[in-house]
Amino acid sequence: MAKTWYPVIDYMICKNCGTCVNFCSHGVYDKTNAPSPAVVYPDGCVDHCHGCGNHCPLGAIVYIGDDTGWSPPHGIKSDEIDCALCCRKSSS
Ligand code: SF4
Ligand code: SF4
Repeated sequence: MAKTWYPVIDYMICKNCGTCVNFCSHGVYDKTNAPSPAVVYPDGCVDHCHGCGNHCPLGAIVYIGDDTGWSPPHGIKSDEIDCALCCRKSSS
């Protein structure tokens, strides 16, 4: 298990769908707090697992210690977000 690899939730993007909480079976997330994701046992995270991040529909999960070049597959880059997802920054 990893002490230098665990998920971090971007709560500006997360919509509390609970997918990550329900997906992980390693006790990393507090299931009593579902559907809101709360990382309570980072040491339980499996080194180099991207399971919850690959299932997050909004790309709100990144990983401490990630040196793989992975990026959230459904992700929206933070610098593309303005006003809590309701109005994207435009070029004008
Ligand atoms: S990366 Fe894997 S082990 Fe770690 S919290 Fe997500 S699903 Fe669980
Ligand atoms: S899967 Fe993504 S959007 Fe859903 S609760 Fe987890 S971090 Fe939030």
